[in-house]
Amino acid sequence: MPAMSDLFGLTGRTALVTGASRGIGRAIALGYAGAGADVALLARGTTALEELAGEIEELGRRALVLTCDVTDRDQLRHSIVSAITEFGQIDILVNNAGGFSHAGPFVDLRPQDWSEVMRLNFETVVFLCRELGRHFLKRGSGSVLNISSIAGTAGVPMLSTYAAAKAAIVSLTRSLAAEWSSHGVRVNALTPGWISTELTKTFASDPDASAGLLSAVPAGRWGEPEDVVGAAVFLAGDSARLISGACLTIDGATTAYAGGPAMLQFLGLGRIPA
Ligand code: NDP
Repeated sequence: MPAMSDLFGLTGRTALVTGASRGIGRAIALGYAGAGADVALLARGTTALEELAGEIEELGRRALVLTCDVTDRDQLRHSIVSAITEFGQIDILVNNAGGFSHAGPFVDLRPQDWSEVMRLNFETVVFLCRELGRHFLKRGSGSVLNISSIAGTAGVPMLSTYAAAKAAIVSLTRSLAAEWSSHGVRVNALTPGWISTELTKTFASDPDASAGLLSAVPAGRWGEPEDVVGAAVFLAGDSARLISGACLTIDGATTAYAGGPAMLQFLGLGRIPA
């Protein structure tokens, strides 16, 4: 039986994390470094990446800053080559960069709106899985962690294309897991619920919007980026060596809960029944 520190650690591994400049990606990158991995940090914001690289180096790990827009294929290809050249190999890919810049009724969507959302949230994941998938398959090992969302497993009005892109990530995760498992390459996904980041600050900073949203979250609080880290380390490491095609939900029971604010009002409780 391997030591627990080996099962749950990432010593000697190298990871590439997209969207590492803030929020969930930053927390995962720091968590991986804390678990012993060297980390390539990819996003557009160079200053934030350099600050994070400094924190990682203070932990005694190597960090590589990759300033890159993930929707630009040439920049992405160049970044992948730089990461492999610098670290010798990549063991873990975290497809985290994503988000939405606007929300609105489905019938008002313009073609450029949905193509923009699909390009950032799904096509980039497809591209990175293919490019690094080749690297992993050649070596007979590798782990991909795709950051989907509860929006990918339940419907979200006004964010239909974002939700569809996140659902496509879940589907891709399962298909690649089935295709690559016999080659030693694992592919898993996380489906976080409401996490307090730049992406969600409009809701989190509005007391009414935040209270309304939390009334459908049995845990009764916003998630923090750090709430996602343990699952990300676990799925990347050896303790998950037979886990592939999994979608692990981190949402304080939001999607497990069939009720909602209206049900609580009806029951007259105003809180989740104990
Ligand atoms: P943030 O907006 O805080 O961070 C997004 C990250 O992605 C930043 O590092 C940003 O860096 C990077 N990014 C965005 N666009 C690009 C681009 N074109 N090229 C390169 N990097 C890019 O969001 P979160 O941390 O909240 O979200 C991270 C992931 O988690 C996303 O995929 C999101 O959909 C998902 N998610 C978030 C949830 C939440 O409630 N917050 C819930 C469920 C899933 P930069 O701007 O420097 O390029």
